[in-house]
Formats: sequence, structure tokens, C-alpha cells
Amino acid sequence: MAALTHCGADPVLVRRESELAAVDGLVLPGGESTTISKLLTVFDLLEPLRARLRNGMPAFGSCAGMILLASEVLDTRPDAEHLSGVDMTVRRNAFGRQVDSFETDLDFAGLDDGPMRAVFIRAPWVERAGPGVEVLATVPSGPCAGRIVAVREGNVLATSFHPEVTGDLRVHGMFVDIVRAARSGG
Ligand code: GLN
Repeated sequence: MAALTHCGADPVLVRRESELAAVDGLVLPGGESTTISKLLTVFDLLEPLRARLRNGMPAFGSCAGMILLASEVLDTRPDAEHLSGVDMTVRRNAFGRQVDSFETDLDFAGLDDGPMRAVFIRAPWVERAGPGVEVLATVPSGPCAGRIVAVREGNVLATSFHPEVTGDLRVHGMFVDIVRAARSGG
């Protein structure tokens, strides 16, 4: 909420279908994707959310949010739901366990003011990106070099990492720009 406010947006929390209907875009935050999946079902948000994504609503998913936006999820629970907002296969907990959480500097396509510090917390990676999906960032070095960790398809943005936990809010700024462009018919 603070990051979006900083970028000039007017964020509200979305828990109900009427609240979802009122927003111009949606951030699906980090957390636990299987729990968020259950809550989306319990609160009757799953189908309304799928419908809004099909109709082009801008969305940004980080970490668990990226998992939820995938069209296919590996290493999740068989009953976990996903939203198919991006044509991609995402592997949950791909970098390992909680202790394998890490930080690195990424080159992020479309952000020109130098590399971005990225914080990965039991993060997923994108194992397959569909032909219409733009790869925005990959892991630069180490055993996971080349793994896709940021993508965009249409108005939907997803990152494996948590850009809200550093002071660098350029990804949120990019998302607010996407929402503004979509609202003005762009
Ligand atoms: N491992 C979590 C999941 O599967 C995601 C972790 C996070 O959002 N930082 O949903």
C-alpha cells in the first residue's frame, strides 16, 4: 500500500467482489499461494478475478502473486487454483527452502537507472514463458543463472521477488504507469 501510494496511486484493500469491481488494477502480493488460493475460493473471488483478468485488468503479482497469475504451476498442492493471467509455467519454491532465500542485483528491462536489488523469499521461478510473454529479468549469475524472475504479458506484470521490501519502487512505478495507460484507453 505504501509503495503504491508513493508512486501516486490511491490503493484500497480488496477482499470482496464489489471491491474488486471498483479497482483499475490489482496487486497480488507475496505470502503463501496455496493459502491465497483457498481464500480466493472461500471469498468467491476466483471467477470474478479470472473474468477481470480476461477483460484486460492490469495486475502485478510478486512471489506468491506470480504463482497465482500462472497458467500452470509445478510443485504445488493438487487442489491449488491459479488464475492464468500470464501464459507461463511457474515452479513454486524453485530456489529451495526458506534458508535458501537470497538477494541479488538484476538488470530489469525497461528500467534504465541501473540494476535493481531483488529480494527472493522462498521464491518461484518461471520455467516456461509463452510466445507472447516478455522476459524482463533473469538471475545474472550463480547456480540459478538464466532463470526467469520477471515477466510481462499485456497489462500483467509478475516478479519472483519482493520489490516492496527495498526502497527501490521502480517496479511499482512501472505498474502504476500500466494502470494509468489502461484507464486512459492505452
Ligand atoms: N513459497 C510461497 C508460495 O508458495 C511464496 C513465498 C513468497 O510469497 N515470498 O506461495
